Amino acid sequence: MVKLAENKHYSEHKAIERLPVPSKVYLPLIQHLGKICTPEVKVGDTVKSGQRIAAAQSGVYAPIHASIPGVVAAIQDWPHPVLGRAKAIVLEGDGHCEGEAFVLKSRKEVEKLSLEDIRRIVLDAGIVGMGGASFPTHIKLNPPKPLNTLIINGAECEPYLTADARLMVEKTAEIVEGIALIASALGIKEIYIGIEDNKPEAIKAFSAFPQVKVKVLKSDYPQGGEKQLILNILGKEIPRGKLPFDIGVLVQNVATVYAIYEAVFKGKPLIERVVTVTGSCLENPKNLLVRLGTPVKNLIDSCGPLKEEPVKIIFGGPMMGIAQYTDEVPIIKSSGGLLLMNEKEAQTLEEGPCIRCAACLRGCPAGLMPCQINLASERSLWQLAKDYGAADCIECGICNYVCPANRRLLQTIKRAKLEVLKIK
Ligand code: SF4
Ligand code: SF4
Repeated sequence: MVKLAENKHYSEHKAIERLPVPSKVYLPLIQHLGKICTPEVKVGDTVKSGQRIAAAQSGVYAPIHASIPGVVAAIQDWPHPVLGRAKAIVLEGDGHCEGEAFVLKSRKEVEKLSLEDIRRIVLDAGIVGMGGASFPTHIKLNPPKPLNTLIINGAECEPYLTADARLMVEKTAEIVEGIALIASALGIKEIYIGIEDNKPEAIKAFSAFPQVKVKVLKSDYPQGGEKQLILNILGKEIPRGKLPFDIGVLVQNVATVYAIYEAVFKGKPLIERVVTVTGSCLENPKNLLVRLGTPVKNLIDSCGPLKEEPVKIIFGGPMMGIAQYTDEVPIIKSSGGLLLMNEKEAQTLEEGPCIRCAACLRGCPAGLMPCQINLASERSLWQLAKDYGAADCIECGICNYVCPANRRLLQTIKRAKLEVLKIK
């Protein structure tokens, strides 16, 4: 793990603010790992906020809901923050959401829910892993083996990002309700929340709830990776090729747990999320509660004026984030941060030849040899890349960060990961 400049000061003390409801949203039909959804509405239809508008018949998917009330203006190709472009449902409203009502449940009603009921609610609400993974949460709540430990990921180790930190401080009781719900449905007794030591307010807030053991973690990167979190909290390693459930552990991100709380207690599908909008280019960095599908230019306008023109807009943080080619790209379920970089911060250093220093090997938290996977990838030797364990790369970006030759290791390893998937 490495110590990075955190740069959380821009937004860590900014309370969550609601971004005004946009008059137009662009909701991609794929915002999760799995199958693309099929529209259930057509152009000209009127929809209510929270109405399901796209889903798949079966398999791995999470349905999409209208995030504003309005009319379906188009179903068309549109910029997508992860895929470049994808089909999206465009909704036009009047910039208001009056009368938005979801069906609340009393505590008694919630206590009567079975695990199957909770899974169904989570699926119907379209909840996915909101820490960036986007894996449909109802599937994670259906483990193939019994679980004994629940770990809540409150590390938020990416520099600049503070959305989870603010949620932990401002919605502590609701997150604890969500944690209790998951733990009791799955029969889990051991519950931890991992929080980095640079978030003292969140540590204090959760320390008031003895049912959740707070594990204070060093603010090192990538402390929030599932495998690192499990190792640092439980002292257990996940064998290569295995997943947390293989050792009886379920890991959920705090924002996902909050979404589960909202779905179960308030009947609210996943139609909005907290996004950190930050960087030195902005006069007013913020943590914003944003309707899904809102174009990022709306978020940037809300945090302006610009102190200087950004040359790079990144979805996520500087280590794992994805650079965007337009400010028309919408916020989706996995978008926890928006980072604007100026020319100096975004400069690309010239790439040199590998000098065999092994810094990337020493830094890799997955125990890989990034320089070797990089060489295999550059030569399209996909079986060799597979043998070197490319599939286990967690895309943390440390190898790029530590390489003195500025090798584009992560970029080539990501390519190798895609090719390795095709090998039988
Ligand atoms: S190879 Fe993957 S896991 Fe290892 S340092 Fe590079 S990006 Fe991180
Ligand atoms: S850190 Fe860079 S220069 Fe050093 S071994 Fe890895 S790829 Fe080569």
